[in-house]
Amino acid sequence: MVAPLIAVAGFLSASPAAAPSPPADPVICVVCGDYTFPRKDAVAAVYEGEKISLCNLRELDMIRENPGKYVWAQDPVSGARVNKIHTKFTADRTVSVRKQNGTVENWPRRFFFESEKTRSEFARNPAKFLKEPYPA
Ligand SMILES: [Zn+2]
Repeated sequence: MVAPLIAVAGFLSASPAAAPSPPADPVICVVCGDYTFPRKDAVAAVYEGEKISLCNLRELDMIRENPGKYVWAQDPVSGARVNKIHTKFTADRTVSVRKQNGTVENWPRRFFFESEKTRSEFARNPAKFLKEPYPA
């Protein structure tokens, strides 16, 4: 009965440096992509009646000028186009990403789904729908 306790203690002491924890109260910048960061670092804006987060307010003009470029994501389960601003079905997950220089890093990312059904399917087995590490 001693070994499991040691394993748990080792995990706890190693975890702060080894695994970056996802940001508290994470948001995405609709313009810059689906990787999340703390809300305190974002600028709040409203688009089509929804509260969104941005890096700066100039980006709100970018969305207005070219909404098709910024507001759509792909449901990783069904492949459907999902409106990132309006969908209620999201999941945050730390993913491994291979950068152009070949190094692999863990980044917190938000995924968007067309329905609760595809979101829960993703949550049951993310590895089925994500091939990690994937290119940055
Ligand atoms: Zn941005």
